[in-house]
Formats: sequence, structure tokens, C-alpha cells
Amino acid sequence: MEYTKQEIIRLVEEEDVEFIRLQFTDMFGTLKNVAITSSQLEKALDNKCMFDGSSIEGFVRIEESDMYLYPDLKSFTIFPWKPQQGKVARLICDVYKADRTPFEGDPRYILRRAINEASEMGYTFNVGPECEFFLFNTDNNGAPTTESFDMAGYFDLGPVDLGEEVRRDMVLNLEEMGFEIEASHHEVAPAQHEIDFKYEEAMHTADNIMTFKLAVKSIAKRHGMCATFMPKPKFGVCGSGMHINMSLFKDGKNAFEDSSDRHGLSKIAYHFIAGIMEHMKGMTAITNPLVNSYKRLVPGFEAPTYIAWSATNRSPLIRIPAAHGSSTRIELRCPDPTGNPYLVLAVCLAAGLDGIKRELTPKGEVCCNIFELTEEEQKELGIESLPCNLMDAITEMEKSEFVQEVLGNHTGTKYLKAKKKEWQEYITQVSGWEIDQYLSKY
Ligand code: GLN
Ligand code: MG
Ligand code: MG
Ligand code: MG
Repeated sequence: MEYTKQEIIRLVEEEDVEFIRLQFTDMFGTLKNVAITSSQLEKALDNKCMFDGSSIEGFVRIEESDMYLYPDLKSFTIFPWKPQQGKVARLICDVYKADRTPFEGDPRYILRRAINEASEMGYTFNVGPECEFFLFNTDNNGAPTTESFDMAGYFDLGPVDLGEEVRRDMVLNLEEMGFEIEASHHEVAPAQHEIDFKYEEAMHTADNIMTFKLAVKSIAKRHGMCATFMPKPKFGVCGSGMHINMSLFKDGKNAFEDSSDRHGLSKIAYHFIAGIMEHMKGMTAITNPLVNSYKRLVPGFEAPTYIAWSATNRSPLIRIPAAHGSSTRIELRCPDPTGNPYLVLAVCLAAGLDGIKRELTPKGEVCCNIFELTEEEQKELGIESLPCNLMDAITEMEKSEFVQEVLGNHTGTKYLKAKKKEWQEYITQVSGWEIDQYLSKY
């Protein structure tokens, strides 16, 4: 919704809003906020709210830590799961430096740069995500566990599906906040769920993903459960992905559509696919940012491990959904919900645009299950693998000048440094698996 400052001030008064949360996102995709009372609203709407950026992951050094929050008026919304007297509302903000120029490490700024490039070429980038998550029990102290009594599977319903009521509550709350929910269902693994909302222009969708995760976690908690977007919380069952459905629109028309093509795709769509495939390895540390992300990307659990595309099969990285006409789109299947959505969409868009500019054609079309191909057959088709762990992904990102340019020097450097540290910490741990395998045997 488009609001003016005056409308927001009036709404806050009429709706009895007491607190307004000024939100932004750090480098790792964690939502941050500072709460103000309604008495400070006018000041905030005039971009006069300051905060100390030095303690935010991936932000600035101590000596230049004063930053400003510029609220995006369109993002004004009231949290329906909070008390309805003395309500809580939020505004998503852009981050500016003390000298009143945009902060180049703000993830929204990085996505906006890619969006501006698209619009210079005449394109609008539309994105619809499919977020998966697990709903687990909490223990007697309210701490999260990885346990659940749910034993349902794909598309099951109550009374087997123990998450039905919680999911219903999530959907209703999201709708109240203006989300158009297209589908919600039990996923393949016990205790796993998916809620899909309608595509929007990329910045709006990235904001929506941040809001979605907050809503899902808050409502699960209200039901005494914990919701997690961790990519692979349990060994031996499917992990949680966040497939992203993408299309470019030009002059109000879907630029990926061409009904004369055998897959219904335009040249532009093929170039876009090729651009993503070309840059995929360098982007994986962004789309799949955690040590744990790579435990999902293994054969046998409906998650991709190869850089290939297909119109008929679900094992590849990119799938062409059967929807045609104005819903023509491509589905990227590797991202998981722990990626910073602003950075994920920025690298995807930039890679696709690069494919268009260089008129690349995608190799690696498959119509069979790739997992059944021999290594020779894979080589012949030009199919490469995704990075197999976080370190591998970091190395690929470090090699990719393209990805670092999309992120900008500030975030590119800080991200790599932080991820290397995360890997070092992980790789020196001694895991339960090692103790089980080695302790008594050797
Ligand atoms: N959970 C699967 C993944 O990890 C996806 C399953 C599906 O939506 N078909 O990507
Ligand atoms: Mg789905
Ligand atoms: Mg799914
Ligand atoms: Mg999907």
C-alpha cells in the first residue's frame, strides 16, 4: 500500500498503535529493529532516527558508526499477533550514513542496485518464493528441540497433520498483514511444512520473506512450538528449501513467454537461465550460506546437487514449471530459507541479466533423473556439481569477480571473512558421529 506520512500518522492514532518498530536486515539476513513510541513517529518519518551501526553484523567500524534509518512508507503494517490494545506496527527502513548518503552495506541497497540495472534494460523482476520449515516441540523450559509427534507426509491432513492448526493461524495472520497466500501444506518430512505467497516485484518479495519468517516463528511460539528454517535439522529426511520462481516483465508483459517454443520460453528466458548457471557456483555461498545448508544439497532428498535444467524433471537446479502464459517462469531450487533474501535476489537478478547481455545459451538440459546418469554421461551433457560444502562455496565466491561486484566491496569482503571464520570454527569441532565411529574402534 502506498501511504503518505500524514496517513501513517493518522493510522497510528486511529488504530491505537503504541510502538513502531524500525526494521532493517544485517548481512546474514537477520532482522534487526529499534522500537520507538508513537511520540517519536514524526521524527522517524522525517528520517531523523539514528542508531549505532557498529554492533550490527557486516555494518561499520566504531569510528563511523552513526547511521540513519529512512522508513519505506509502503512497508507500514500492524503486527496482528501482538496485543490489540496499544498495538505494535513496523516500518522497513533503508540505512543511510551520517553524511546522508546510502550505506553500501545495506542489503536493500545492494538489491536496489540490481533492480535499477534491470529497469534501465526495461525489465521488472518478479519473484515468488516457496518457503519450507519445520515445526518442533519445545521442552519444559520452552527451549526448542528437534522432536515432534507429527508423523504426516506430503499433503497429509489432520488429525495426522499435527501442524494444521498452527499453519492455519499463520496463514490468517499473514493475510491480515496483506499477504496473498496461494497454498499451504504439509511437506514430505514429518513436522515439515510449506506456505506459499504470491509473487511480487523483487524488493517487495525480499521484504515479504523477512516478514514471513518473523510471523511464522512468532505464531509457532504462541502455540508452544518452535518453527525453524534451518536447512537440514534432521539426518535422513528432506531438508527445507526456498525455491524461487522468477520472471522478467517488460511493458507489462511476461518477457519469459513465447508460445512458439517447445517449453513456452522466450530467448530472454533462456539467456537468463544460462546466466544463472554460469554464475551459480560463485553465488552458492549467498543462496546456501550455512555449514548446514550443504547437508541438504545431497542426492535422495529432492534437493539439487547438479548445475542443470529441465522442463520435466525435479532433480536439476532449474526447473521450468508447467504454467504458461503470463505465469511463465523459471524455478531455482537450490536456495534455502537461511539466505539473506535481498542478497539472494540481487545475485540471481544480476546473473540473469548478465546472461541476457552476453546472449548466453544454457547447456545441461536433462530430461531424466540426473542421479541415474553415469559420470561420463554427465560430462557429455556439460553438467557440473554445485559446491559440496561451505568452504568449497567460499572458494568459488572468492574466485567470482562478478559476485563480488554485485555485492560491492564492503559486503563482498566482510561476507567472505565471516564465512571463513564460520567454516574454521566448524571444521575443528569433534562431532558425535566421529566419537561413535572412532572412539572404541581405534
Ligand atoms: N524439501 C525439498 C528441498 O529441499 C523440496 C521438496 C519439494 O518442494 N518438492 O528443496
Ligand atoms: Mg512448493
Ligand atoms: Mg516444497
Ligand atoms: Mg517448488
